[in-house]
Amino acid sequence: MQKDFSIDEHLEYPVENVENPVITSMSERDAKSVWHPFTQHYTAPYSIPVVKGQGAYLFDENGKRYIDAIASWWVNLHGHAHPYIAQKVAEQFLQLEQVIFAGFTHEPAICLAERLLDILPNNQAKIFYSDNGSTAVEVALKMAIQFFHNQGNTRKNKIIAFANGYHGDTFGTMAVGAKSAFNAPFEPFLYETLYLPVPTKGHETRALEAMQEYLQNADEIAAFVFEPLIQGAGGMVMYEPGVLNELIALAKAHGVLTIADEIMTGFGRTGKMFATDYIEHKPDIFCLSKGLTGGAMALGVTSSTQTIFEAFLSDDRRKTLFHSHSFTANPLACTAALASLDLLLLPETQAQIQMIHQSHQCFKEVLQEKYGKAIADVRIRGTILAIEIQTSEGTSYFSNIRDTAYNFFLEKGILMRPLGNVIYLLTPYCISEEDLQYIYTAIEEFLQHIQAK
Ligand SMILES: *Cc1c(COP(=O)(O)O)cnc(C)c1O
Repeated sequence: MQKDFSIDEHLEYPVENVENPVITSMSERDAKSVWHPFTQHYTAPYSIPVVKGQGAYLFDENGKRYIDAIASWWVNLHGHAHPYIAQKVAEQFLQLEQVIFAGFTHEPAICLAERLLDILPNNQAKIFYSDNGSTAVEVALKMAIQFFHNQGNTRKNKIIAFANGYHGDTFGTMAVGAKSAFNAPFEPFLYETLYLPVPTKGHETRALEAMQEYLQNADEIAAFVFEPLIQGAGGMVMYEPGVLNELIALAKAHGVLTIADEIMTGFGRTGKMFATDYIEHKPDIFCLSKGLTGGAMALGVTSSTQTIFEAFLSDDRRKTLFHSHSFTANPLACTAALASLDLLLLPETQAQIQMIHQSHQCFKEVLQEKYGKAIADVRIRGTILAIEIQTSEGTSYFSNIRDTAYNFFLEKGILMRPLGNVIYLLTPYCISEEDLQYIYTAIEEFLQHIQAK
């Protein structure tokens, strides 16, 4: 029996709080009522309440300042609480804050679609909106599978993906991501994916051979989905454009659709607008989110070619793409994305992207010269710097270097969230040279600290 909702019951809660004067700080109130993502609440310390953001900085309840060195989980491009984005979103709110997107449309969504198509490769023709990265990938997979289905081909049911990939936390995206402790409980529910070895240096041939082998049964394969050039959650693992270009060419030659998950790599992260701008063969579908709105609001985009779009045109209504979210193409999020694009295209922003890249290059030399023994690998692509720390246990998310490093940098007012033994920088583009130098110095101190152990 469903319990009746009672206002009295609802009112109990604040009363209890008043009677319990221990609950004062935001952290404690948080611990009492909030369940956080990717957090083991049994062992995790209290969450740090952030009360203000400005530029590359976050400020906590006590006024302590943190440099946001991971762009708040890879989303922020131009700094926090950016006045230009804030103003545009505020103006839009007073005009139109939300409207159903089936049967209706609005200027921010139209304008954003036009502007995205301007910067995407010219094989891209249509923009489909959703509201986060995982759903952008879900939509891409559904588009690919139904593309064939609509043409009467129901045999193409498999997806090729890289081992060690990450495409989101929903069931469809977990299925194409790495099999790991994170999704182990759900494995029986995840459909079969064909995994390619990641084509890191020295493993290119293995990846190409595996692709060729899978493609012998191309009539069963709908799509190849990949994080171009950098696998983010997998540990900032990098590979070269050449091999991706060949993999895409092979897939295309065998009638397999190609899906670029540019959710982390898009909007300048890799030094070009999109990571796939480094390669010649253009994917059929793109997934965008994270930096799309400059990190200010939730929005997802799946773009497709005209050919894919046309496979859904029919007087048979079953050929429709039946996918929607309540907040699809939210006008405020589209407006934030338009404002972010304005800022991204400024010469100053492009110069900052170059500055960050150059600084990382110089620091890489220092690292290799002075800390060769403590470091297994240093990788750079565009604005992303990844340092793989040498450990006896090998690479593991659960490596305790992670916690040591996280706390060490937090103490110094730097928000970094190592992926196992990989510490990395993925900062807002507005970060100053001084703050970068401050972070480099802290990294050196950390390496000295662990070398001394
Ligand atoms: C973050 C990420 C996703 C998932 O995006 P969410 O908005 O967190 O659902 C998918 N793919 C890649 C490459 C990502 O980095």
